[in-house]
Amino acid sequence: MKYSENAYNKAMAVLEQRRQYAEAEQQRRIDEISRIAPEIEILQNNLKNTGFELIKLVLSGDKDTKNLVEKIKEKNISTQKTIGELLEAIKGDKHYLDIQYHCPVCKDTGFCEGRRCLCMNELLKKFTIDELNENCLIELNDFDDFSLEYYEKNDVANISPYDKMKQNLDFCKNYVENFNENSLSLLFIGKTGLGKTYMSSCIAKSLIEKNVNIVFGSIIDFLRRIENEHFGQEKGNTLEILLNADLVILDDLGSEFLTSFTEPVVYDIINSRINQRKPTIISTNLSFAELDEKYNERIVSRLTGCFVPIMFVGSDIRHIKLMDSLK
Ligand SMILES: [Zn+2]
Repeated sequence: MKYSENAYNKAMAVLEQRRQYAEAEQQRRIDEISRIAPEIEILQNNLKNTGFELIKLVLSGDKDTKNLVEKIKEKNISTQKTIGELLEAIKGDKHYLDIQYHCPVCKDTGFCEGRRCLCMNELLKKFTIDELNENCLIELNDFDDFSLEYYEKNDVANISPYDKMKQNLDFCKNYVENFNENSLSLLFIGKTGLGKTYMSSCIAKSLIEKNVNIVFGSIIDFLRRIENEHFGQEKGNTLEILLNADLVILDDLGSEFLTSFTEPVVYDIINSRINQRKPTIISTNLSFAELDEKYNERIVSRLTGCFVPIMFVGSDIRHIKLMDSLK
């Protein structure tokens, strides 16, 4: 995957911070130990000095060099062991003075054997998604602010809108609680003004707080970007991000204008994510019949076969709020 220069620079800055932190933290531990256990510092100086002894020995051309080198090595091992035992006794950790990198694999350099380390890839992914979400115009909300008071308590088809929406709210909270890379894909279905975008934004906010790499935005906006990037009018790799994020929340499917370019893109996003077992949440104002009418069979069969439908019911909340404000 290609990443923007901006994401790359941000990732490198984080790695540098991590290295500096690891080095400063090691220095703090060294200072602490030399204060509370100066005998360890002496032993460590002895270790350093044996390095010079070895060089001197090799240069002296002494007949007995091999034996002497062996002796020095043994002494070193025993000194290291003593230091470890002392540290274990004092701090409960024999590696207390070792440098503790955030990523021991690449020692916080971001590269390992000439290739990008996984930690670097994670950072790049995070910053690329952040960039995309920065442009998202949808406000993020808290589950606690999802108000059920706008849903009627009178039964419609054996369940009141209030009870149904309470079920949905509990389901979504539970979804966030147990979210993992193979969570279910959800299809929020219902007329406009029933809280689908609001619910999506609550899920987005809670998962962002849990450091999940999520992308949230309207289908129209994503398709516009993908098309502009494809034809070189904008820089970016929105499609790749949508294919690779841990969770994608596509708002308002059905509002977009389908063309010979956008329809295959919609299918590609939905289908590739299903094939990779990555979860997607889609909200739409269209009914199943309207979805069937608007999209080709391949898209509809993916939506109906691989997504859990969550029905949003009730009366248009924006309308109720407007009427309340006029009272
Ligand atoms: Zn690493």
